[in-house]
This record gives sequence, C-alpha cells and structure tokens, in this order.
Amino acid sequence: MAIEQTLSIIKPDAVGKDAIGTILSRFESNGLRVKAMKMVRMTREQAQAFYAVHADKPFYNDLVAFMISGPVVVAILEGEDAIARNRELMGATNPQEAEPGTIRADFATTIDANAVHGSDSPETAVTETAFFFNRLEIFDRE
Ligand code: GDP
Repeated sequence: MAIEQTLSIIKPDAVGKDAIGTILSRFESNGLRVKAMKMVRMTREQAQAFYAVHADKPFYNDLVAFMISGPVVVAILEGEDAIARNRELMGATNPQEAEPGTIRADFATTIDANAVHGSDSPETAVTETAFFFNRLEIFDRE
C-alpha cells in the first residue's frame, strides 16, 4: 500500500443538503486526512475544463450545468491507498447501484446529482489537485 493523494469534490447537491460535515467526517474517520480545502463556485469554462475528458459524452452539458449550479467543496485527501479508499467510500457512480452505507447511497439521488467526485487514478489525482490548489494552499499534515 502506498500513501496517495486524491481530489475530492463535494458536489452542489450534497452542499445544498448541508452534508459537508458528515461527508468530511467519513473521510477523516476512514484514514483520509484533509491537506487542502475550500468552497468554490466554478464558472462554466472551469467546469468544462475540469470534465474535458467527458466532452464527447451525451451527459457532458448536463454534468457541467449541474456542477455550476451552486458552490462545491474541493479538498485534497491523503492516506493509504487514498484513491481507491475514497472511491470505496463514495460508492458507485449511479447511486441506485451504490453499496449501502456509501456516501452516494446515503446522499445522492441521481447519476447527475451524485454527491461527490473522487480522482480515479494517480495521474488524474495530480492533474485534478493542481486544477484547484497551488502549493501555498496545500499543507503537510504529518
Ligand atoms: P465518477 O468517477 O464515479 O464520478 O464517474 P465518471 O468520471 O465516469 O463520470 C463523471 C460524472 O459524470 C459522474 O460522477 C456523473 O455525475 C456523470 N456521469 C457519468 N456517467 C453518466 C451517465 O451515464 N449519465 C449521466 N447523466 N451522468 C453520468
């Protein structure tokens, strides 16, 4: 196992449900430490760029519209196998398929409004953390 960093986004639906604290608590109680965090409201251009990998998908415009519909909380989480661990805590992309007890099973309603984002590989974690945070905003928690 390796110590990894991953980018987490608490999406507008979960922020709107006042679930920020509960979701952060799940990370912290499962070995994922917050190294950086802020609330932002993305512009359309920023959301399009963040999800550029999905630009040719039929759901791209809806995804971008949803992600700019309200503020999001972005955080860098660090821990053993942080990328996989975070995705386990998040549950399946479609909340109908998410395991009971996962964040998406508990807080998401649809595949669009699915409560959280988490990086899916070490490569995307690097790109995604740099998308939101500069070096001065990232803290050594050791
Ligand atoms: P994630 O890594 O689990 O967030 O999933 P992906 O990276 O594959 O997709 C990014 C986001 O696009 C997901 O979190 C969903 O909000 C949305 N999405 C993915 N697949 C679909 C789909 O088939 N239909 C719709 N409407 N949205 C989708």
